[in-house]
Amino acid sequence: MTTKQVTKETKVCDVCASDKNVWTTCLICGRDYCYNCRKDHTVTYSEGVHFSGRDGDYCISCDTNLLKSGTDRLHTAYLKVKQLRAEETGWYQDFKTRVDAAEKKLKELREGVNSPW
Ligand SMILES: [Zn+2]
Ligand SMILES: [Zn+2]
Repeated sequence: MTTKQVTKETKVCDVCASDKNVWTTCLICGRDYCYNCRKDHTVTYSEGVHFSGRDGDYCISCDTNLLKSGTDRLHTAYLKVKQLRAEETGWYQDFKTRVDAAEKKLKELREGVNSPW
């Protein structure tokens, strides 16, 4: 029987050294993060305002540097999408606040009309 040793490249989390669920890689420095560590150590930008696709992952330190320098075109493009997403959420919240206030006012008035006093 002939055996052959195969060297398999396995991604290992740069934080906890786990080789399980290592899906997140920083686009800048290439550090890898497992599913558990990505929450605390990386920032993920969505590809679209209304959908996620080829999302951009950055480790916190690279993200911080890029935010400061603002020279990375890909990061800046991701940031723009993120800002638009936030803007839309803001609109919706503002709209909902006004809807709630208007409905509350109407309800109060109608209850006032129907009351025997
Ligand atoms: Zn980890
Ligand atoms: Zn990085």
